[in-house]
Amino acid sequence: MHPLLEARSESRKVTARYDVIVAGGGTAGSVAAIAAARMGARTLLVEEQGFLGGTATGALVTPLMPNRLNGANLNRGITDEIKRRLRARGAGGETPENDGWFDPEGLKSVLEEMAVESGVLLLYHTRLIDAVVEQGPDGRRRVVGALVHNKAGLQRMDATVFVDATGDADLAAAAGCQWEGGGEDGTRQALSLRWIAGGIDVPRLARFVEELGGHRWPPGYFESAMVWGRGHVLEPVFRRAVEAGDLEESDGDYFQCFSIPGRPDALAFNCPRIAERVDGLDPWDLTRAHIVGRRAIDRLVRFLRGYLPGCERAYVQQVAPMVGVRESRRVLGDYVLTLEDILTGRKFDDAVARNRYPVDIHLVRPGGRTRSTLEHGDARRPPEGDYHEIPYRCLLPRGVEGLLVAGRCISATFVAQSAVRIQPNCHSLGQAAGTAAALATREGIAPRQVDGVRLRRVLREQGADL
Ligand SMILES: Cc1cc2nc3c(=O)[nH]c(=O)nc-3n(C[C@H](O)[C@H](O)[C@H](O)COP(=O)(O)OP(=O)(O)OC[C@H]3O[C@@H](n4cnc5c(N)ncnc54)[C@H](O)[C@@H]3O)c2cc1C
Repeated sequence: MHPLLEARSESRKVTARYDVIVAGGGTAGSVAAIAAARMGARTLLVEEQGFLGGTATGALVTPLMPNRLNGANLNRGITDEIKRRLRARGAGGETPENDGWFDPEGLKSVLEEMAVESGVLLLYHTRLIDAVVEQGPDGRRRVVGALVHNKAGLQRMDATVFVDATGDADLAAAAGCQWEGGGEDGTRQALSLRWIAGGIDVPRLARFVEELGGHRWPPGYFESAMVWGRGHVLEPVFRRAVEAGDLEESDGDYFQCFSIPGRPDALAFNCPRIAERVDGLDPWDLTRAHIVGRRAIDRLVRFLRGYLPGCERAYVQQVAPMVGVRESRRVLGDYVLTLEDILTGRKFDDAVARNRYPVDIHLVRPGGRTRSTLEHGDARRPPEGDYHEIPYRCLLPRGVEGLLVAGRCISATFVAQSAVRIQPNCHSLGQAAGTAAALATREGIAPRQVDGVRLRRVLREQGADL
């Protein structure tokens, strides 16, 4: 614990005690809390924003990337339920091309509704700031409490089991767990500041892109991209805008947009990419990302209006309140998932998720490769017709009890994390962590003692494809 907090927290009474506390209500944390509460655990979900969904809703990452084998989704269970509920409120994709695309406001409501219905106690506008760790008679360190801060001040909250789903592994780091960040050669995933433009005649824009030689999308769905040198049909249009001084060269390093279910005149943008050396844990870098990103969005909206038919009345509907961070801390767990596991389609007895999504590293340097991906040539995913699994042990931080991690901060190498970090996998990892936490509290055992093979069976009974 931070020395400045120590004195204050010791004198502080435990304000509440729960079976399970989930820190962070993003993709993994929301599902973890729902899963734990549905199994009867008294579950508190602490979230620093005023909504659920984290990166998905706050950083406007509006597609659940397809993770499929032979056309069937590999993530099932609560993922299916979320998609069903999104579709029912007109906020989820209806076609095979967009079955995982969603309206972020719709997802906030769906997750909140599911959490409340499941009996999760939600606590928004509350930031976890430290861990209370005790040493047991067996010499093992155990997380017993969390210090949180909100408008009511500093409070200590205790639980039998904690799930760290902060994306940045804030709780695990505060508890002294070992973690890594970035690649072995110092590479980092680029940050992005995503945004949504309204006022667009999407069918007209789609026709324009198609006439340039682009893909023809079914009615109701559109996506387009432009990266310099990849032969995208919009490249000459971008070049003209750069030459006219309306765009900067870096604006074409990565440009991508998608339609949003239920918003026929809007597009969600997976850009601008923040092309500076940035660290998602550094508040100064995060601040700069907002400033640099917002300037780029101003240029992009002018570009839409001036160069793309159908976009003459485009306006900024929303800039993401959260910078999109693809990778920050990765906790070192009982097992560290590797690129070899992915490329060989490795299976585990204690598997909690299956993945076929490829290694996907967004480098600040366009077209760059990391040392380990270079060693493996172009191989980025399991062999044809196969998938790899993620073991329960990737959720168990080494050297500490009472704590599970879920979501993008699980135990994996930099390259392996780039493949497993997608939202459908975060759902599955969250469901596994919440279920394991509930089993542990119900049976009075540590999460590390939960038998992974049995956990897998329980997850299968809950609808997981394992
Ligand atoms: C730009 C970008 C594009 C991407 N594109 C795709 C895509 O197209 N499809 C796809 O499937 N995936 C995509 N991903 C990956 C995916 O969106 C993320 O990996 C995933 O959403 C992470 O989920 P999570 O639950 O681990 O973390 P998050 O969703 O980030 O959740 C963490 C939550 O914890 C809260 N929190 C953090 N710290 C604290 C604290 N100390 N106290 C209290 N609360 C805290 C945060 O507010 C947040 O709600 C993309 C990611 C980015 C950044």
